[in-house]
Amino acid sequence: MSNLFYQTRLRRPLLDRAEGVYMWDVDGKRYLDGSSGAMVSNIGHSNPAVLEAMRRQMEKSTFGYRLHFENEPAEEFARQIAARMPQGLDRVFFVSGGSEAVESCLKLARQYAVAIGEASRWKVISRFPSYHGSSLGALSVTGMSLMSAPFSPMMREMPKIPAPTCYLDRDDLSDHERGLKYARYLRDEILRQGPETVLAFIMEPVGGASTGALVAPDSYYAEIRRICDEFGILLIADEVMSGAGRTGQYLACDHWGMRPDLIAFSKGFGAGYMPLGAMVADRRIADAVIDSGGFIHGFTYAGNPLACAAGLAVLGEIDRLGLIDAAQVQGDKLSRRLQALMQRYEFIGDVRGKGLLLAFELVANRETMEPLPVGLNAHNRLVDLAYDRGLIIYSRRTRGGRIGDHFLVCPPLITTDEQIDEILAVLTDSLDAFAQETGL
Ligand code: PLP
Repeated sequence: MSNLFYQTRLRRPLLDRAEGVYMWDVDGKRYLDGSSGAMVSNIGHSNPAVLEAMRRQMEKSTFGYRLHFENEPAEEFARQIAARMPQGLDRVFFVSGGSEAVESCLKLARQYAVAIGEASRWKVISRFPSYHGSSLGALSVTGMSLMSAPFSPMMREMPKIPAPTCYLDRDDLSDHERGLKYARYLRDEILRQGPETVLAFIMEPVGGASTGALVAPDSYYAEIRRICDEFGILLIADEVMSGAGRTGQYLACDHWGMRPDLIAFSKGFGAGYMPLGAMVADRRIADAVIDSGGFIHGFTYAGNPLACAAGLAVLGEIDRLGLIDAAQVQGDKLSRRLQALMQRYEFIGDVRGKGLLLAFELVANRETMEPLPVGLNAHNRLVDLAYDRGLIIYSRRTRGGRIGDHFLVCPPLITTDEQIDEILAVLTDSLDAFAQETGL
């Protein structure tokens, strides 16, 4: 009997060790980590350079509290992160995870509005579906009603607009027009709420688990930035999953030259070596808040030297191994292979994503994109079939939304051609078993 408890009674085997793209349980069974955990282990497991950097740091110090010491790994990591950001986005605030990074963005944005005499602004518009974290502030902008419903009396639900699920639309619009159509929802919502009350818009530039790697048409990104500027609204990019190179650019926003005002990072930022995340802020925002009396926010473990030494070494490995380019190249290969599966399985309705942030969606009817019946429990079942066969993938079904059962296939950025073959072989075997079980 274990004393641990998690979200559900689901229990998996005990993890023994992990190396590269593989993980082994204590019975010696090997798994290919086809989702990098929860899109975290971007540089693979047990990277020797990162372990060595951590070991060296551990021997010097593992913790120094913020009010008592600065530390060199945090200084250097912040310097290197800032050097990769769009001009002026160079204030780095470390945290220990994605929800903390999002909370930090929301609170800095609010304090900035107050600091510049715009205290009427407090609403943060977000999208439905979306996922921004589990803490109450992050949950208030998360567009997944099942996750937030029980907590609604305890938090202030923020306005939502539809995520750009263009692939489900059956109208005559061009991609360009569709992008503008979905961006217009933001403008309409700002006007409905009253522009003087709207503080920010938060979005995942490439969607994560909630939408299954949703990518908007190119026109969407520039138009969102334009609308935010029109109304003096801050643009927050939640790059917790899409950032740190996973989509083939360090920032997913960089694919479209979309410059956010605030960015939330985590997951691939620490790549599973330490709990780590950051908010990166435009200097005019951070400096105004600091100058107005200080940022009323913070977490005890933030910027600790061991986590930052690990993050710094992860960044070094991303560069040394050319993993941002690899995300693009291997992502294109994997995406083509997943698309080819659509010929074999009529019930794969869509394959989408960018770089190695990829997903496929199962449907009852490809023409109408009608989701599979909930009773099939496809999002859990296919994951289990793959898991039994030694492949880890990640799934969701967005209940209440238009998106059905979708599966993220997001292996580490170090994944080789042979390992892509292996992923496809096991996935095909699992899909065959799923088709046989369900009669699809
Ligand atoms: N934002 C996005 C886009 C995410 O995908 C996640 C986690 O999946 C979070 C925020 C929350 O991160 P964490 O679970 O580290 O708190």
